Amino acid sequence: MIKTQVSITSDEAMAAAAVGALRQIRVIQKERQLDHGSRSWRGQRDRWANQIHGAFGEIAFSKAINQAWTPGGGRISNGDVAGEYEVRATEMDNDGTCIFIYEGDLDDKWYVLAVGHFPDFHFPGAIKAKDGKQKRWWNPRANPPCYWVPKDQLTKITDIWGEPPPQSGTDAERAGHPNGFVGHDSEGRFVHYCWCGKDAGLGYDVKLTKGQFGTWFCKDHKPELV
Ligand SMILES: [Zn+2]
Repeated sequence: MIKTQVSITSDEAMAAAAVGALRQIRVIQKERQLDHGSRSWRGQRDRWANQIHGAFGEIAFSKAINQAWTPGGGRISNGDVAGEYEVRATEMDNDGTCIFIYEGDLDDKWYVLAVGHFPDFHFPGAIKAKDGKQKRWWNPRANPPCYWVPKDQLTKITDIWGEPPPQSGTDAERAGHPNGFVGHDSEGRFVHYCWCGKDAGLGYDVKLTKGQFGTWFCKDHKPELV
């Protein structure tokens, strides 16, 4: 079950803070002043805080879709959640809230917007990088310059990670057969349904060589043998 709002616990926040700090230490050790492939002039205090806040957002999103947090170790970015999804966190929570998409972002990956601060985050939606790299969203004044994609342009996370709506009708109805149908389908396969419409595994009085298809039951409707 997908949640669009999540609270993280103090333990989770501590784990995120540790990883966020570690990431910033690695950046400094490598003297890597580049953020997302462009030079950033943000100061050190901001950078430490942003790393930790970003990791809060990742853990929150991993809880929202019930998949593993995958911080990626020494690699810069490896997919923050489920080894695949990138999370971008912001505290800004108003009509103008945007997700930042960078030129170097991977076109076919989902980038998820996490909004909030400890302990509460919510998720207005996500976008694939290629869909976010549109001229109209380019912000040359951003630090570093990037695409600012408004939150109302994002796909809802329930539409991406939610369960598909339940199919209506029984198996037999979906296959175009009346419930209890036993015989050959349009492709010549021998199919056998229980009277309830489910695929049936148990057939009685079946003598296919004599053209006798028998009567079939699913495991819920298997008759008691007397
Ligand atoms: Zn049945």
